[in-house]
Amino acid sequence: SANKDGICYCDQKMLDEIQRKHQIVEILKEVCANNSFELYYQPILDVSTGRYLFAESLMRLNHTPLGPIYPSEFIPLAEESGLIVELTYHILDKVCKFINRLAEQHIDIERIHVNFSAIQFSQPDLIERVCETIQRNGTPYSKIKIEFTESAIADNPQVVSHFVDEMHQLGIRLGLDDFGVGYSNLDTVVHIPFDTIKLDKSLVWSATEQEKSAIMVRNITNTFLELGMKVLAEGVETPEQDAFVRDCGIHMIQGYLYARPITADETEEFLRSSSCP
Ligand code: C2E
Ligand code: CA
Ligand code: CA
Ligand code: CA
Repeated sequence: SANKDGICYCDQKMLDEIQRKHQIVEILKEVCANNSFELYYQPILDVSTGRYLFAESLMRLNHTPLGPIYPSEFIPLAEESGLIVELTYHILDKVCKFINRLAEQHIDIERIHVNFSAIQFSQPDLIERVCETIQRNGTPYSKIKIEFTESAIADNPQVVSHFVDEMHQLGIRLGLDDFGVGYSNLDTVVHIPFDTIKLDKSLVWSATEQEKSAIMVRNITNTFLELGMKVLAEGVETPEQDAFVRDCGIHMIQGYLYARPITADETEEFLRSSSCP
């Protein structure tokens, strides 16, 4: 806190926090330069076939001098420092290589989801970089889904709209992430041709707690279904939540009840054993 002379008197706790943030940014720089971060995958169930046809890629920082650092802590720092931009291309590259590896093993996966932060859309070379990364690996565009939140649309509506058109022409799928967090603007959402709407876990959890949330989730899901979009429920942890989202007609389920985020090797094994019982 600053006094009237503008001098900052920090206590030890604040200094520790600042130092920790600084250390994490240094770790992020290093893993970005060496491409040495880990990428986990969380399998996603396709309800109609009962098979795991999709997975979401999720970044991890496990082996650092500070011990494991969670995405809730390092992703905001990667965004603030701008490092997320380069990291995302590394992630996309790893995802392409993983898709290729699964194809070589004849393991079926329809699509892998990659998260894009809102600031990705402020980069003038975004489309070029996305195309270049996927082409370099020879991975089919249709195997990739890019997830982003409404905040990206709010920040850069024209850019996002152009991006969405270009991606659609290539056959790259798009998913709206975190629907139901904060203020969702249905009018914005329905005018962007998303393939999938992902209901955030907070919405899924409240639906089995409160009747009013349940009514809302049911109706919102119906609206998206009528608009020709698919709906994915995130954070399904209990049989009650599972029964509820299935009853709503949801297409895809992601949650600890089915699978947690796991390493690439574990994902390969998981997909292999669940596709050929
Ligand atoms: P998100 O994109 O909404 O990702 C889903 C989060 O929910 C993941 O947390 C996942 O592990 C968690 N989750 C899935 N099912 C369940 C469940 O049944 N119960 C509970 N309690 N949690 C569940 P994670 O991996 O900790 O990531 C948190 C957030 O960090 C992500 O939220 C995303 O916003 C960000 N993030 C993670 N990896 C990346 C990345 O590679 N790039 C970017 N830009 N952001 C990322
Ligand atoms: Ca996501
Ligand atoms: Ca979410
Ligand atoms: Ca998110």
